[in-house]
Amino acid sequence: GTSLSRLSAELGPSDNPVVGEVLEHTRDMLAAMNHLQKRLDSSLNEIGNLRSEVQRARHESLVDSLTGLANRRSFQERLAACLATHAADPAGSVPCLVAGDIDHFKQINDRYGHGFGDQVLRAVGRILKSVVADQGLAARLGGEEFALLLPAASLDRAEQIAERVRATVACSRVRRKSGEVIDERLTISLGVTHFLDGEAMNEFVERADRALYESKRAGRDRVTVVGHQGAH
Ligand code: GH3
Ligand code: MG
Ligand code: MG
Repeated sequence: GTSLSRLSAELGPSDNPVVGEVLEHTRDMLAAMNHLQKRLDSSLNEIGNLRSEVQRARHESLVDSLTGLANRRSFQERLAACLATHAADPAGSVPCLVAGDIDHFKQINDRYGHGFGDQVLRAVGRILKSVVADQGLAARLGGEEFALLLPAASLDRAEQIAERVRATVACSRVRRKSGEVIDERLTISLGVTHFLDGEAMNEFVERADRALYESKRAGRDRVTVVGHQGAH
């Protein structure tokens, strides 16, 4: 474009019709190229926007928006991947699962409102995340149900982790937004199990749920472990 302007200035007004035509065509080409450049810029811009949109959608599809923990879908993906890794190297570490469910959560909602209930869910989410740290994945499966996937913890270690969660929840006090501390005992029941070679993913998950149910049945605010030999 710059060269063209310079050349046409140097050539000056010309009565050579060929030069005039060349100049005209060149200007047309330049205009067409400018137009294409603009379209290319706007396409690049659009690609950038779509890319961030895809990232945001992927994040939203895997993260529970209330607690920031992995959601059920993400948990299932990670569990499937973890079991596939284990199947490829059965002599390696055995995955453990912890299932957790807040006790009498409906009552908390009924007494203090849904907003406070949400605050309790966030607080429990933070506890799970900090207790698990880098040892596995903490997920909110829905409602007041949580799960921990511990790919490399022994059953004893998984039990210790579940007990830490239980004890931390039991001694925590949740504040209302106003700052008022609610004097309500908050407890959680947990079930722990490890993977048994050859079983299906849902059998593994269901056994963790059965262990959790056993904790509820036995009076809540406790951890039940179901290993090879059943509950202890
Ligand atoms: P249990 O000790 O047997 O587990 O009793 P529970 O009251 O905790 O269990 P139940 O299944 O009867 O009640 C669960 C309640 O959780 C009912 C529902 O309104 C509430 N809930 C589910 N999702 C949410 C949520 O996202 N926010 C709030 N605040 N409450 C929720
Ligand atoms: Mg509950
Ligand atoms: Mg429940």
